[in-house]
Amino acid sequence: MPPQVCPYVFGPVPSRRLGRSFGIDLAPYKTCSYDCVYCQLGRTTVKTVERKEWVPLEEVLSQVKQRLSELSEPPDYITLSGSGEPTLFSRIDELIDGVKSITSTPTAILTNGSLLWDQEVRKQVKKADLIVPSLDAGSEELFHCVNRPHPSLSFSQMVEGLIKLREEYEKPYWLEVFLLAGHSAIESEIEQIKKWIKAIRPDRVQLNTVVRPPAEEYAYTVPKNRLKKIADSFDPPAELIADYQKKFVQFHSADMESHILSILHRRPCTLSDLSESVNLHPNAVVKYLDHLLADNQILVKVSAGKSYYTKPS
Ligand code: SF4
Repeated sequence: MPPQVCPYVFGPVPSRRLGRSFGIDLAPYKTCSYDCVYCQLGRTTVKTVERKEWVPLEEVLSQVKQRLSELSEPPDYITLSGSGEPTLFSRIDELIDGVKSITSTPTAILTNGSLLWDQEVRKQVKKADLIVPSLDAGSEELFHCVNRPHPSLSFSQMVEGLIKLREEYEKPYWLEVFLLAGHSAIESEIEQIKKWIKAIRPDRVQLNTVVRPPAEEYAYTVPKNRLKKIADSFDPPAELIADYQKKFVQFHSADMESHILSILHRRPCTLSDLSESVNLHPNAVVKYLDHLLADNQILVKVSAGKSYYTKPS
């Protein structure tokens, strides 16, 4: 019997910061409060700040339970992220409670941080074991240029939310700073970002840059040596998000093509990423990819000197 399709969960996939991450998608594809120029999923199709039950809670939990039972080893994190902004899901607190009733694996939320000014959102997300919000600019001007937020959002409001969350949340809080060459990775902007980080007081600061094909071609990669210098100039030094290195385990799925498609639906991957995700030798993965390419279900894009498999937009 073919495996049941589980559109709201994916993975485990190798995550550059969370090890083997089992993902839960709480908003439809590219439903987000931002439209970041660097987004690896392409341009936002539904830019919104409306919070609602975008996906059916009970169905999501049932898929989490089913997929986890198929794994031979638990993942490192259950991650609320995926192909849209997870805090737009109005029942995220109930979702976390439900996940905790199924597994003891820690839960993480990767959020753009845009809605944390809202007390109700903060109250809900505090149930997670780890929160990783983003801060990609140090000024209102760059915020609009890089994140292209919903018109109702302002930089000062967003930063205020990041600061308030830290005051109220004692569990691990990591801040991701995504830098773009020629835009935010310039001295004046970095100094502003550092000033805000002092006010936010995250446990860790992680620097990231474009490594997968971005929404806009002008979202340029910060070269590694430059990013390292920027990281070292932080006090304490920031971390560069390292490439995934951990060993992987068997993922049981008879329908490998649809599994590969479900991973590529969320993010572009290299052959090596996919090989680790589906636990198949690259030579075997290539056969599936060749078929999907011939069928025009996927395409190849080159970014920062690497080839990425991705779904056509
Ligand atoms: S990078 Fe994240 S926050 Fe930005 S548009 Fe994409 S999904 Fe939204």
